Amino acid sequence: ESFTDMCLDTSIMKDIGFHEYTAPTSIQAQAMPVALSGKDLLGCAETGSGKTAAFAIPMIQHCLAQPSIRRGDGPLALVLAPTRELAQQIEKEVKAFSRSLESFRTAIVVGGTNITEQRSELRAGVNIVVATPGRFIDHLQQGNTSLSRISFVVLDEADRMLDMGFEPQIKEVMRNLPTKHQTLLFSATMPVEIETLAQEYLTSPVQVKV
Ligand code: AMP
Repeated sequence: ESFTDMCLDTSIMKDIGFHEYTAPTSIQAQAMPVALSGKDLLGCAETGSGKTAAFAIPMIQHCLAQPSIRRGDGPLALVLAPTRELAQQIEKEVKAFSRSLESFRTAIVVGGTNITEQRSELRAGVNIVVATPGRFIDHLQQGNTSLSRISFVVLDEADRMLDMGFEPQIKEVMRNLPTKHQTLLFSATMPVEIETLAQEYLTSPVQVKV
């Protein structure tokens, strides 16, 4: 399947064009139609496979179908990633695929950076938050953001997040999401802990593997 066949928003298509991505990678060809159809996804893929765009593009498209964000609103979509570096890469890619969209905003919420600046960004209202689990929970507890409007969640490099001890934070988020939401879980490996997490929080997920 080509990007053209995926019925993407024209602004997103334009941004894909800027990237000079001619054809989807294997994970994109497999995962994007599933994600765009609204189904949960369990993706076994490593960095370098093109997995970031595989979830970022459907996530942006999902946000476009929601009522717009105003000041004080919680985000529509959330990506949790294990490290600050990975979160930064993801946010960069999300920005790149949404740069032709008017007033589409994203925030990055990671440790080791100014929490006050992040707070004002979050309170201003953003479509998408890319975060590391610990810092995201800090903001939730301080009332700087909320889960109330989130309807699309990505757990990226879930195996690494569990290795780093983020299971309680992931569960805290997943347990408190609005009932109606879509979840994409990506992991390079599929140990039993990931299967358990998927069983607990994904609904009839489609499994893809590269
Ligand atoms: P990722 O696995 O998401 O870290 O992506 C690995 C690299 O592949 C990044 O530098 C992307 O910009 C690039 N990439 C992703 N999708 C495509 C595509 N369809 N065609 C060419 N390059 C791509």
